[in-house]
Amino acid sequence: MEKVDTLINARWVVPVEPDCRVRDNWSIAIRNGRIEAVGPSGEIKDRFEAIETIDRPSHVVLPGFVNAHTHAGMSLMRGIADDLPLMDWLKGHIWPAEQQWVSPEFVSDGTELAIAEMLKSGTTCFADMYFFPDVVARTAARLGMRACPGLIVIEFASAWAENAAEYLSKGLAVRDEYKSHPLITTVFAPHAPYTLSDKSLLKIRRLSDELEIPVQIHLHETSDEITQSMTEHRKRPIERLDELGLLTPLLFAVHMTQLEDREIELAATRGINVVHCPESNMKLASGACPVPRLVESGINVALGTDGAASNNDLDMIGEMKTAALLAKHEAGSAAVLTARDVLRMATINGARALGLAEETGSLVSGKWADITCMDLRCLQSQPIYDPVAQIVYAAGREQVTDVWVAGRQLVSGGVLTRVDELDLMERVDTWRTKLASQSERGQR
Ligand SMILES: [Zn+2]
Repeated sequence: MEKVDTLINARWVVPVEPDCRVRDNWSIAIRNGRIEAVGPSGEIKDRFEAIETIDRPSHVVLPGFVNAHTHAGMSLMRGIADDLPLMDWLKGHIWPAEQQWVSPEFVSDGTELAIAEMLKSGTTCFADMYFFPDVVARTAARLGMRACPGLIVIEFASAWAENAAEYLSKGLAVRDEYKSHPLITTVFAPHAPYTLSDKSLLKIRRLSDELEIPVQIHLHETSDEITQSMTEHRKRPIERLDELGLLTPLLFAVHMTQLEDREIELAATRGINVVHCPESNMKLASGACPVPRLVESGINVALGTDGAASNNDLDMIGEMKTAALLAKHEAGSAAVLTARDVLRMATINGARALGLAEETGSLVSGKWADITCMDLRCLQSQPIYDPVAQIVYAAGREQVTDVWVAGRQLVSGGVLTRVDELDLMERVDTWRTKLASQSERGQR
């Protein structure tokens, strides 16, 4: 018998790779944080002896979700300003609050709240874009969460940095610190074409090519962004990024709601990745990313929640359903973007966009054991003809019972193993008191 650390025996396993078929009565063997084997329970039990065996007889086991775009620290601003268009929301509420409150402590507590919520929703990896990426990295590492902290660059001063050059140099220092960390992989995160100069974008392009670091940027989020770019640069943002050489397979462009046919072709030719954030786009009435057409052109499309201030939750299970429904509604066809398509977007496609396809995003031997387990033994999931349809169209995140990241169990029986929820909620409430007093002053 081969020795392993953990054996998970499940009623169903959906490995996502090589495909999203449902396997009945399968097991997963984990050793040293990685998946040693996945297969029929009979075979796995005959082959391995485990220190710990976990039976999940009414559950489906999946790869942990990859949230390919969020602003974890913004969780402390969930519900602070709603029902406003993007620019009013940013300029009137979010940026003033950030100017006053963003600090290492703010980012630490906000990121912890986001990670706690994501873990309890089955997410095991997230790509972030926020100030103090050093704090994001430290918080994720402390809590055992896989993360891609974004080395944010923007032309305004903040508590983190004074100017683009300082954002970059501080970001690179964070990259060096976490270079060989098993959970943390930094990515460049220039905020958006409208908040960055050509000079800064070029510098990021050169560094990204040299160091092979992925780049995430908000791109073609709203029609106003396009109009402003036409006025200032006489070209559309994606054209400008292409001229600067940023459209490469290392890029993951977030939103992409405003696209002409030739721009879809350009994105496909350059091999960029796209991150779709349907709930944030719908809530801010920004438009809809033409996902089925992007997929048809061969573009890798991942899924993100965006920040909790514009969504307002970090729930990838809900996001999958929204993505599927929005695509069908927009295309006037029920056949586009199936439950399995959105499950791939929420797992392996996210890992691919983040440059982590060899490490996570599917249940394949050799990858990290980043695993989510959901209980389908409840009224809302009955009867079970197809567990994948149940997960995408009917289940809720409260059905997530267990989550492992790199083989470490971070959610057990629906309870976080490394976060003291009551203590966290008290800290969050202290922030609410501070931020609410400022926004009341602003309204008077
Ligand atoms: Zn965003």
